[in-house]
Amino acid sequence: MTDTADRPTVFERIAAGEIPARIVAETERVIAFHDIAPQAPVHVVVTPKSGDYRDVAELAAGDPALLVELVEVAKGVASDLADGDYRLIFNSGPAAGQTVFHVHAHVLAGGLEEGTLA
Ligand code: ADP
Repeated sequence: MTDTADRPTVFERIAAGEIPARIVAETERVIAFHDIAPQAPVHVVVTPKSGDYRDVAELAAGDPALLVELVEVAKGVASDLADGDYRLIFNSGPAAGQTVFHVHAHVLAGGLEEGTLA
């Protein structure tokens, strides 16, 4: 996926119901669904429904309340689908592995190995 003019993003299309996804939580502005290529026993993507912000720093600067809401949804997902403990990862920029330029958190939970970052 490229970094230019890729709108609407795949996550906007999921939020609009145009692409199927296994949705696990939803608020007025945030949606959470199982990642299509899970990297942990529980791997959920949590993202604003709108693709206005490309990465977490843009979101924090532009709409901090929405970032707070996203973190709250992530915490709820970890409680609902695992034991409540979780890793929250925001890949920011292509060199960090970001492929969808619509800010999103990866919630990793359930049977994670100790002492690793990924
Ligand atoms: P990366 O692909 O390196 O993880 P990102 O941090 O941008 O980069 O994460 C995008 C995530 O979105 C990936 O984990 C990918 O598996 C997931 N994904 C892409 N398309 C879909 C989809 N249609 N449904 C669910 N998850 C998706």
